[in-house]
Formats: sequence, C-alpha cells, structure tokens
Amino acid sequence: MSPGIVSVAYVVASILFILSLGGLSHQESARRGNYYGVAGILIAVGVTIANVGTGDMVAILVAIVLGSIIGIFLANRVEMTQMPQLVALLHSFVGLAAVLVGFSGYIEPLIVTHGAEHTIKLVEIFLGIFIGAVTFTGSLIACGKLDGRVSSKALTLPGRHLMNLVALAITVALGIMFVGADSHWAGLLALIIMTIIASVLGVHLIMAIGGADMPVVVSMLNSYSGWAAASIGFMLGNDLLIVTGALVGSSGAILSYIMCRAMNRSFISVILGGFGQTTSSSSALTGDESVQETSVDELAEELLSSDSVIIVPGYGMAVAQAQNAVGDITKLLREKGTTVRFGIHPVAGRLPGHMNVLLAEAHVPYDIVLEMDEINEDFPSTDVVLVIGANDTVNPAAAEDPGSPIAGMPVLEVWKSRQVVILKRGMATGYSGVENPLFYKDNTRMLFGDAKETVDKLLSALRS
Ligand code: NDP
Repeated sequence: MSPGIVSVAYVVASILFILSLGGLSHQESARRGNYYGVAGILIAVGVTIANVGTGDMVAILVAIVLGSIIGIFLANRVEMTQMPQLVALLHSFVGLAAVLVGFSGYIEPLIVTHGAEHTIKLVEIFLGIFIGAVTFTGSLIACGKLDGRVSSKALTLPGRHLMNLVALAITVALGIMFVGADSHWAGLLALIIMTIIASVLGVHLIMAIGGADMPVVVSMLNSYSGWAAASIGFMLGNDLLIVTGALVGSSGAILSYIMCRAMNRSFISVILGGFGQTTSSSSALTGDESVQETSVDELAEELLSSDSVIIVPGYGMAVAQAQNAVGDITKLLREKGTTVRFGIHPVAGRLPGHMNVLLAEAHVPYDIVLEMDEINEDFPSTDVVLVIGANDTVNPAAAEDPGSPIAGMPVLEVWKSRQVVILKRGMATGYSGVENPLFYKDNTRMLFGDAKETVDKLLSALRS
C-alpha cells in the first residue's frame, strides 16, 4: 500500500476518533459516537495489517485471533458491575505494551538513528517505558481496589512524599545515564532498574489514594494509558498511534479535571493521596442513634400522594440491576401526573457516567436525568427522595462535619427534602468507608432489602 493512501487513511481514522469523542460527550449522540469510533478503529487496524509484510502477517493474525478469543470470553463473563475493574485492567495492558515495545525498540531498533535523532529516540524509549510501567502496575492496583481484593483504604507510609521524590530523582539520573551510556548493556541495565522503580512507584502512588478519590484515579489512569499509547506511537514512528494516544491522554486529563472539580479537590492533592481514609476519628455519630424503617406499602402510598419525586441512584442500583424496574416506576408515576426526576452525582457508581448508562438502558428520558448542580437547589421543594443504593454521594457529613474524611466533597443534599427513603440491604458504608448520618435523620426512612426485589414489590404495590 502506498504511503499516500496510508496517510489519508490515518487522517480519516483520526477524524473519526475526534467525532467519536465529540459524540460520546452527550447521551443523545453517544451511540453515534461509538459507531464513529468503531469505523475509525476498523480503518486503522485494516490499513496497518495491509501495510505489513507477509512474514509478519501470520504473527499479527495469530495475535488478533488469540486476543479476540480472550476478549470475547472475558466480555461474556464480566458482569456490568465489574466493568470498572475490567477498564482498569485494560489500561494496564496499554502500559505493559508500552514497556514491551520500548524494550524491543531498544534491543532491536526498527530504524537505525544517529546523532540528535538517536538521542531523541532514546528519550522517547525511556519516557515511554517509564509511563508504561507506572500505568501497568498502577492500573493493576486500581483494578484490585475496585474489585475489593486490595483495601480501598489509603496507604499512608511515613515519608511517602519523600520516597516518591527520591524515586523520581533516581529515575532522572538513570535517564541521563541511559542516554549517555557507552555500551548497549549499560543502557539496558539503566532501563531495567528504571522499570523496576517505575513499577514500584505505580503501586505506591495508587495504594496511597483513598476510596473517595478513586474516581479521579480511574480517569487519571485512563489518561496515562493514552500517553503510554502515544509513546508507543513515537517509538514505532506511527502517526495514528500518536494522535490516538494524545486524544485518549488529553480527554482522560480533562475528565480527571472535571472529576476533581466535582469533588472539590485539587489534582495535586489527589495525586499526593491520603483523602477519604476509612477510619474517621471525628465521626459525628455516637453509636446510640436509631433508624426508622418503612414498608413497601407505606412508600407506595407516600409516592402516590406526592407531587414531586427525585430518584437518586447509586452503586447499589447497579449491583442489584434494578434500573429497568426503576424505569418502570418512573413511567408509572409520570403517567399519574407526578413530577419525577433523577439526581446524578458525578462519581455515583464505579465509573464516570455509570448511572447515566444504566438509566439510558432502562429508557429513562434524558431530560429528567439531571446533574448534581442542576438539581441540588430543588430538594427543599421536593416531597419524596428515593435513594436507591447510593451512600457516599448523599452523605451529609461531607457538607456538615468538617472533621469527616470526606469533608468538602459536594453531595446531593437529599436531606433537605420533606421525606427521604433509602433502599439498601443493611447498614453498610459506601465505597469510602465513611459512616452516613443521613440514615438517622428525622425525615429519613430505611427500606431494607435488595434494591431490585424492593423496587419490584414497589411496582406491584403502585399498580394495585
Ligand atoms: P456507594 O459505594 O457509596 O454505596 C453503595 C451502597 O449500595 C452501599 O452502601 C450498599 O449498602 C448498597 N448496595 C449494594 N448492593 C445493593 C443491593 N443489591 N441492593 C441495595 N443496595 C445495595 O455508592 P455511591 O454511588 O453513592 O458512591 C460511589 C462511591 O464509589 C463514591 O465513594 C465514589 O468516590 C466511589 N467510586 C466511584 C467511581 C466512579 O468513577 N464513579 C470509581 C471508583 C470509586 P448495603 O451493602 O447495606 O446494601
């Protein structure tokens, strides 16, 4: 295939990726955005395969078939609630790829370079492997934290900032040694030591981040994986990979910024870690408080006599897979003339946009699904708020208790409504591990049980 055709195909694929990102930024156009992305990737992969020699073709096809089999197997096995850890795992693959491409590019360069060009190539390799190793191990730890295999509590080792700084200083020194190395083996040794340090740094950076900051970490690792892909593009001299990696890297960075703003946190303090630890020494709860329970029938009556209802979904709705039943209740109440809206916290669930995806699946109209900023002022004029499997995102301690580990994080102020009903199985805390005083407020009622079972019963009670 001529270089001209390859370049045109790469430009078309890049434009499709940009259109895809644009489409994904709105719920109405998300499906179209996905189609653009699929078309772009088909062109990119097709042209890349058509461009390799027949000798390499077999190896590439074997890799594609094997990868596809593993991908299909995993995609079929993974529950919707396990998507966040799968995404983190996929980020780790990009990091690992950057490390492997970097080493192979150094051990057996595709193009022999000299002078300044050679120095630039070496810097690309060094940076690519560094970003890749941090992304690889950091994403594995994030996967473990999201999966519950690694504690979500922040690991705050004494002198941890100094340790990170020393690791960075040694990395810079190794980089200088690597670029100036007079033998291949000396360069390889510097690379191996740096990879070990970067891998430990990746583990330590993510271990130091507490549960409440994990949403930012997920989008931050998404960004890192983009930069790792861009670095692979530099190492392989592939323009499309550079563009694609930069698009993922910058959109992940923008998402991290949006997440930080939503949680009232600065990006630097997230990276430094320690926020939202699971032990709260200053909890406003004494342990003597008691909760008030309600029943499905009482709630049905309450809903039928209400003019305005806000539903606040959280991770528990995803676990219970209650979204379709919630969608049916919404439809039924709206048909009876009740104003029903949804309040979505930016970090609800375990993935950015998690709740929006579930509600779209349940055909809930987009115009009644509102962001936290759009709905927070409306709670005082709302009759009933149904909190379905949400916890941290409705915790008043964030707004009312300056000593709380999540103090300062904006939350949905559901307690300002006339009546709050919380659907959850027991008294467990949310992901951040912080106790929730909302459960004990005078206008709160608890409705215990699996969210799906409760919502199904509620639907029957509303219909009868
Ligand atoms: P939380 O994780 O705070 O709470 C979920 C609640 O759902 C739990 O308290 C649990 O209580 C309940 N629950 C679990 N299963 C069921 C079920 N089957 N039926 C009914 N209830 C159930 O959820 P939120 O959405 O409010 O908050 C999200 C948290 O996750 C935040 O801390 C956020 O920082 C973090 N996070 C978010 C990410 C993102 O990108 N959105 C990524 C990583 C972390 P019980 O067991 O008693 O039923």
